[in-house]
Amino acid sequence: MLDQTPKEISERKALRINPCKTCQPVGALYAALGVRRCMPHSHGSQGCVSYHRTFLTRHFKEPAVASSSSFTEGASVFGGGANLRSSVKNIFDVYDPDVIAVHTTCLSETIGDDLNSYIMELEIPDDKLVVHCNTPSYVGSHVNGFANMVAGFIRYLADPRAPKNDKIGVFPGFVNPGDIREYKRILDLFELARVILPDQTGIMDGPMTGVYEMFPEGGTTIDEIRSLGGARQALALGAAASTEPALALKSKCKVESSVLPLPIGVEATDNFLMTLSGLSGRPVPKELEEERGRLIDLMLDANPYFYARKCAIFGDPDTVLGITSLCLELGMIPLYVITGTPGESFTESAKELLSRYGALEGAKVKAAADLFELHQWIKNGRVDLLIGTSYGKQIAKAEDIPFVRAGFPILDRYGHSYHPLVGYRGGLLLAERIADAVMDEMDRKCLDEDLEVVM
Ligand code: SF4
Repeated sequence: MLDQTPKEISERKALRINPCKTCQPVGALYAALGVRRCMPHSHGSQGCVSYHRTFLTRHFKEPAVASSSSFTEGASVFGGGANLRSSVKNIFDVYDPDVIAVHTTCLSETIGDDLNSYIMELEIPDDKLVVHCNTPSYVGSHVNGFANMVAGFIRYLADPRAPKNDKIGVFPGFVNPGDIREYKRILDLFELARVILPDQTGIMDGPMTGVYEMFPEGGTTIDEIRSLGGARQALALGAAASTEPALALKSKCKVESSVLPLPIGVEATDNFLMTLSGLSGRPVPKELEEERGRLIDLMLDANPYFYARKCAIFGDPDTVLGITSLCLELGMIPLYVITGTPGESFTESAKELLSRYGALEGAKVKAAADLFELHQWIKNGRVDLLIGTSYGKQIAKAEDIPFVRAGFPILDRYGHSYHPLVGYRGGLLLAERIADAVMDEMDRKCLDEDLEVVM
């Protein structure tokens, strides 16, 4: 279906074709779903929140609850204050959440709705809370919306007078519940007490029980968010998604954070574990050392299928940097590395990674890029493998390139959100998927007499 993409590249500034991102409120909604008994609320028209909910439901295969200020023409002209007042009253009356997390949309941002003053004037029941963040969708991406919502929770709820405690705060980045479960397992092995904000486990990967619960057991509690103000330190995993909340925590509560890359691949996981070792005063547990050994073993065993394979990697900035790091460790050549999220720190980090492995020459790296451009690059210089979200499948089909799904969103396959990409286990899974894709392609294209059962 993308057979008509032209090979000739023309300079574009004000046009995105097949964007490699979605809008800020999608990330804000996902972040709010990771807080216990929280109702995400979209301050805009119903069409926006329908899209945001559908997008998340298609990736996680779980219902993504959210409410809307239901703007019509009147609110668009006179402001959405009255809509927000009746929404908040109705939501507390009907659904009884503990907290409503309001995010804005293009429309409410464009007309200049002042959420700070609206919320100050609301009648909020004594034991309930309303927080907000601004998520104008004509700048940034869902990753920025996610960061803004997590920072919003910190600004409203983290308590600078909270008693000093021994916990570490963890901002997990824009990752799947499977990744958060892996963080928890690793933190438990170091016996580190923690508060993870947000935590979508149990909410966006809930088991089938036959009973629908609007607010499943799971998510970071309000008390836990308050206690972050007394945490001894925080870890911000993934610079694009977690720097903003880390800065908010420092500014409000003077709690310092270490910003680390998402622990995808060997080196990034090593750094993550050494940081945890320093924080816990414990050596790296044997169980994790053995997992590392198994990952290295697979990397060596399957090296002929990784070595010098050219790949294109696209998706969210923190995830793409992690996958690029793993691909370089596997001996692959990431020829094209792009994200749809704007931000030059991405290109700087990607170039630094590539140059460390001597792979910068000939490589193209770009933030605020789109998949049309990536397709054109591929037409001008073919790759052996495409790694990214479901939106790459048309390019993979048009160019007949093996495709590994990783990142957000995966709309056309099942189970991805249950499994980690982080940690050595995540590295093992991703390396296995890459090797499988390369070997499947070889099996598909080889002569019958070369079709080997044992590799
Ligand atoms: S109008 Fe803006 S907030 Fe609404 S769905 Fe479109 S980009 Fe997102």
